[in-house]
Amino acid sequence: MSHKILIAGGGIAGMASALALTRAGCQTQVYERAQVFAEVGAGVQLGPNVTHVLQAWGLQTALQDVAAFPTQLQARSALSGDVLATLPLGADTQRRYGAPYVTIHRADLHQMLYGAAMAAGAQVHSGAVVTALKSTAGHVEVQVSQADGHTQHTADVAVVADGVWSQLRQQLLVEGSVQPAGHLAYRTLLRQADLPAHMRSQDVTVWMGPYAHVVHYPVRGGEWLNLVVLTEGQMPGVTADDLQSWNAQQTPEQAEHDLKAALRGACVPLQALIGAAASWRAWPLCGRTPMQGAHQHVQGRVALLGDAAHPMLPYLAQGAGMAIEDAAVLAQQLAVASNVPQALQAFAAQRWQRNAQVQRGAIRNGQVFHARGPMRWGRDLGLRLAGPMLMDQPWLYGHRVN
Ligand SMILES: Cc1cc2nc3c(=O)[nH]c(=O)nc-3n(C[C@H](O)[C@H](O)[C@H](O)COP(=O)(O)OP(=O)(O)OC[C@H]3O[C@@H](n4cnc5c(N)ncnc54)[C@H](O)[C@@H]3O)c2cc1C
Repeated sequence: MSHKILIAGGGIAGMASALALTRAGCQTQVYERAQVFAEVGAGVQLGPNVTHVLQAWGLQTALQDVAAFPTQLQARSALSGDVLATLPLGADTQRRYGAPYVTIHRADLHQMLYGAAMAAGAQVHSGAVVTALKSTAGHVEVQVSQADGHTQHTADVAVVADGVWSQLRQQLLVEGSVQPAGHLAYRTLLRQADLPAHMRSQDVTVWMGPYAHVVHYPVRGGEWLNLVVLTEGQMPGVTADDLQSWNAQQTPEQAEHDLKAALRGACVPLQALIGAAASWRAWPLCGRTPMQGAHQHVQGRVALLGDAAHPMLPYLAQGAGMAIEDAAVLAQQLAVASNVPQALQAFAAQRWQRNAQVQRGAIRNGQVFHARGPMRWGRDLGLRLAGPMLMDQPWLYGHRVN
């Protein structure tokens, strides 16, 4: 059936929904607040559970063109520099899960989804803020504000994909705003050609230290190294508005000072890598408690997807991945539906526990990555003895939505 779908937000969840739903035969309109799609974010990792979906959408060649395909995941001690464990990726992941593990710049992933959605027939309106939604028995009414005034639209379904600071979720669920998690992410990109040979890397590497960890991996066909430092603490003087802009840019001096303090005692190679960065952008991470029920995914004819539904810490590297899985399931349910509310309920029933499990896994990983004292000794011993078994996540990577 050709349902009319209105999508609020043109980020990863919004564009993935636009692509999946248009491919499923729906008429899809995306309303995005930003005037232009900026190069926001930095790298993201996508496990085989996600690349499997992208391949089913015909994006295999596009992925080959822009992503990197790391050959292994290494866990290292930030203090001693020791390699604690290695999980083979590359051909091994392909063989075990039937799809690759990739690392990609968020802007490249977004562009890939956007281009494919447009080619499939989705329509995208930029500079358009969705301000209100009202679900009735037969349709959903949506108000949009643009520079030239307000407009009212009706659709069979509205998709709320307005991200972690979702105003629309707050209207629908009346649960209050997202809360700072007390963790900060400092992100930068380094051109590999500018680095000395021993610092270049085509692996995913996680350096675990007390109260902080560092992750790096290749993006843009391996030419750039995406480097992220995750620390515990708040960012003084940052307002809610700064948070919503994605980029609380710090002065180089402030970032250097904070990172030195957070990585006190780190080994020389890690300090050298951090010192190679010229500028950093800092994100105070925000979250909610893991999903508690299907009502947090669907309200009447409105479906919440991606970070609007299930914001999560990035410690399982699956926030964008879950948005893409959500989009695939929503499209499958609506493709065959004559009863739209029932299809939305089926979508919510299929998704909320999976998303809650990933949210809980991300919280747990943060505790493991930042462990200190006896817990750190136990973690390091466990990784040395059974690393690949502990690092592989069949429940996560083996999950199939299509
Ligand atoms: C440090 C860090 C590392 C990460 N690493 C990974 C990783 O390795 N792997 C992974 O899968 N994920 C990762 N993530 C998570 C991932 O970036 C997010 O989960 C993903 O971007 C969420 O997509 P979204 O579309 O829900 O939200 P967004 O991408 O934030 O998009 C929301 C969009 O809605 C628009 N909008 C907002 N309000 C309105 C409105 N009222 N009307 C219209 N438009 C509106 C915004 O302008 C924006 O374009 C990471 C996140 C962080 C912070």
